[in-house]
Amino acid sequence: MTPSIAIVGASLAGLSAARALRARGFPGPITLIGDEPHLPYERPALSKQFLHTGEPISLLEDHSETTALDAEWLLGHRAIDFTPGSARTDTVGATAGSLADRHAGTWSTTSGAHRVDRRDEHPAADGSRHVITLEGGGAVVADIVVLATGARARRFPDLPGAHYLRNLDDAARLHEMLRHTRKLAIIGAGFIGAEVAAAARELGVDVTLIDAAAVPGSGALGESVASACAALHARHGVRLLTATRIEAVLPGAVHLVDGQRVAADAVLVGIGSLPNTEWASSANPLLHSPNGFPVDHLGRTAIPGVYAIGDCARVADPVTGGHSRTEHWHAAIAQANTIAAEITGTAPPPRTAPYFWSHQYGKLLQLAGDPSAATGLRVIDGALDDESFTVLYELDDIPVAVCALDNPRLFTRHRKQLDRALAAVH
Ligand code: FAD
Repeated sequence: MTPSIAIVGASLAGLSAARALRARGFPGPITLIGDEPHLPYERPALSKQFLHTGEPISLLEDHSETTALDAEWLLGHRAIDFTPGSARTDTVGATAGSLADRHAGTWSTTSGAHRVDRRDEHPAADGSRHVITLEGGGAVVADIVVLATGARARRFPDLPGAHYLRNLDDAARLHEMLRHTRKLAIIGAGFIGAEVAAAARELGVDVTLIDAAAVPGSGALGESVASACAALHARHGVRLLTATRIEAVLPGAVHLVDGQRVAADAVLVGIGSLPNTEWASSANPLLHSPNGFPVDHLGRTAIPGVYAIGDCARVADPVTGGHSRTEHWHAAIAQANTIAAEITGTAPPPRTAPYFWSHQYGKLLQLAGDPSAATGLRVIDGALDDESFTVLYELDDIPVAVCALDNPRLFTRHRKQLDRALAAVH
């Protein structure tokens, strides 16, 4: 007998979960619920190539992948409420709407070719099912639920007309705006602000980047490397104003608290993100935390049979005991693999070092590991004021992270060493 699985959020983490479940032999019904009307697309491209081409890049390998996944896609459907199975075993039929019985009979016998280990112990084996209520009526009932609803752009208060960048619709508006803008002010010099600054410069726009930090990006990269990245902006003609804040945005200009005035026809805000959790956590205290659905290192929430992955998940680190929400491409895929292993009872994937990349001014910036754990920095190739460099972040001479600007070969060699070191201790 196999359970049914509903995955809420049909983007990178959700699709990766469906892929990993099938790759690990999960034979049961999978439903992917997504509020965007589009099939999954590459979100990172939205702040890079898309701003030049206006063409999204599909996340699906090709058209046949949807067939191979054998999943039901409910696109353009927003989940608005979640009722865990144990709370509603006796009321499923009563409140579920038109889609409610989509998975009735899920506990059919399946061939021995497919294996869902430990199914007798599985929380859904008692017949209780989780219910996801959809906006506009209807619901999806499933034995196992994967929460993969990502994050949304954090808004700047009282700034009508400002642009944000999180999804394809935002990117399409930004793409159009950049063609009609001479002067762009970007509030927030994080990775999205920096990438849009680079793309806008390449399109001939006059760009000012404004950030409250003295050295933007130093939290993620450390001060020396972040300073080197800040210098990239200056070399490409972007004005970077740091350690300052917005006082007001008036037509034609952004006013800063230190008295500076930045002429701007348009404003983009890139000040981070907030996890999309309220739809499920507001009625379920076990899914509530200040920053993401709380899960253990295997992606399990405190509700049996309910997992959370990707940008919406706040994951426990088994070594440090801390929790963090990682908003990077590779983390979403790794977490999807982890929960698929857990659900199917197959071998867990090896633990790998956190990794992300960024593209700015035609250059590839890559970081793997945890720079915050380091006590020292060693430049092993190039120089920080060069167009290319590679640095190791070290704790007592042992590398804990590596960062490179435009040196993917050397970076990859050291990243693999970090991965091997992690695999050896876990
Ligand atoms: P998302 O991709 O946000 O997907 C969540 C999905 O769930 C969305 O489709 C959302 O609309 C949907 N959803 C939300 N609420 C509901 C609901 N209630 N019901 C149904 N559906 C819902 N990472 C890197 O490592 N390198 C990069 O260069 C990089 N560039 C980026 C550039 C941009 C512009 C952005 C926005 C992100 C970038 N990232 C990058 C981060 C990376 O894209 C994310 O980590 C990744 O998309 C996370 O995947 P996810 O599926 O968890 O979340």
